[in-house]
Amino acid sequence: MEDASPDISMVLPLFNESANLRPLVDALIPVLEDCGVTFEAIFIDDGSTDGSWETIRAICNADSRFQGLSFSRNFGKEIAIAAGLDHARGKAVVIMDADLQHPPELIRNFIAKWREGYKNIYGQRMDRVTDPELRNFLTRIFYRLLDRFGDTSLPPGAGDFRLLDRQAVDALLKLRERARFNKGLYAWIGFKTCGVPFEMRRRGSGSTKFDYGKLFSFALDGLMSFSALPLKVWTYVGLAVSGFALSMASFYGIRTMLFGVDVPGYASLIVSIAFFAGMQLISLGVLGEYIARIFDEVKGRPLYLIAEQTAEDAPKSRDQGAGA
Ligand code: UDP
Ligand code: MG
Repeated sequence: MEDASPDISMVLPLFNESANLRPLVDALIPVLEDCGVTFEAIFIDDGSTDGSWETIRAICNADSRFQGLSFSRNFGKEIAIAAGLDHARGKAVVIMDADLQHPPELIRNFIAKWREGYKNIYGQRMDRVTDPELRNFLTRIFYRLLDRFGDTSLPPGAGDFRLLDRQAVDALLKLRERARFNKGLYAWIGFKTCGVPFEMRRRGSGSTKFDYGKLFSFALDGLMSFSALPLKVWTYVGLAVSGFALSMASFYGIRTMLFGVDVPGYASLIVSIAFFAGMQLISLGVLGEYIARIFDEVKGRPLYLIAEQTAEDAPKSRDQGAGA
């Protein structure tokens, strides 16, 4: 029975969370044991520099249900989650932040829903009081944009805290894109989905790893991966602008024929030149964003590199995320 796959694999991505790891483990074990499931827990150390890896080693030595991988550098949370899914062997996977913001007790409800037959169960965040106002505001704008223009609609409040049945995990494993926007991917795969509401807690210790710069590039990844509209919109903008220019041309043509030539118009000229030059640069920039992503995919590099691993047998390693 030693080798049988556990019921639940916990996937725990972390970056410099050393002070949160033990409290996390202490909170997780009773919940999972109470649920009467067998489990394994996988820490994915996303290039921490604060001694998180040493703590993980100690935890894994003391309890064989825990294992850890450590990346060769920081690859980002989305990639860390992908690595966790690669290595999970459970009949279901629960993804959870390692900073204690996701209440472990919710796993009970996840498992209950899973037993009812749901395969894609997400924790639905009811409030955002734990984040600064500005971040909430920008987050709302982003999700509204994505909802309006994206090809995949995301359930409101859904994040990474969730349970995925093995079937859903296998589906996700087939998506090897490099610019990963997991929230979109979870929605894209479908399967019987439901949400379980919860209130986000405050961080155990440390501070958020997502500054506004990181959040912006994350948002851009989301929009670019799930919407081709920024690429297509320029056709319409171009048509509208050219139409406008043509009508302007005929207006001035007729006016010149009727009233002769006049010179003034410097201001309007310079403004329209600057405006249309700006438009062209923006549209080039949008093309550039997509091409950069295509370039990234074409290079075909592995998603991540593992520097160290606690479990030597390296279960089901998918050649470190390369693959089709
Ligand atoms: N995280 C990660 N790699 C990163 C940034 C964050 O694995 O590059 C982990 C982090 O340690 C935490 C989770 O992702 O377990 C959520 O990050 P954080 O709490 O900083 O984000 P927030 O809760 O503010 O959205
Ligand atoms: Mg957090």
